[in-house]
Amino acid sequence: MTTTTIGVLALQGAFQRHIQAVESLGANARAVRLPEDLDGVDALMLPGGESTAMSLLLGANAMTDPLRALIADGMPVFGTCAGMILLAEKVLDGRPDQVQLAQLPITVRRNGYGRQVASFEADLVVPALGLEDDEPFRAVFIRAPKVEAVGQGVEVLAEVDGDPVLVRSGPLFAAAFHPELTPDMRLHRAFLNSL
Ligand code: GLN
Repeated sequence: MTTTTIGVLALQGAFQRHIQAVESLGANARAVRLPEDLDGVDALMLPGGESTAMSLLLGANAMTDPLRALIADGMPVFGTCAGMILLAEKVLDGRPDQVQLAQLPITVRRNGYGRQVASFEADLVVPALGLEDDEPFRAVFIRAPKVEAVGQGVEVLAEVDGDPVLVRSGPLFAAAFHPELTPDMRLHRAFLNSL
């Protein structure tokens, strides 16, 4: 069996730590910048950063349509923070020229936790992935999107104060936080195990 290759969108933002995380779990990581980088990729990670800048760079690199087509065809994707915003069907408080991949039926509000609480951390239990109270996942939120609605077929895997922060719909995972910024690899492992 060949080793799984995970494409990590590397146009902007926090992609380097995702690459390290994927490699530490024994998969191949490939920095993806251009359509040809997608050849032979088994799954994708969309990192945090600035969803506005990322979406403009996707357009400039002719990546938007190839990515949409792959995801619509069933490519597994894990989007984190800005990556969650890119995956979302509906974005509130986005820039008018911000482009969505729009493959995950959720509504997110950019910077939805407000500027006062630009960053915070929270302990998450994720029972569906076996992350229970005794060993919660420490989640780092940085100008995070707030999930304001989830559509049909979207499973809420974790919440903070009643708001979904980790969701899944079939092969698509999305986190409002940055799982790559802590040494805990359990969420990356869960994604790889889902492939
Ligand atoms: N606020 C950023 C955006 O709207 C996301 C922040 C992040 O990815 N840490 O794109």
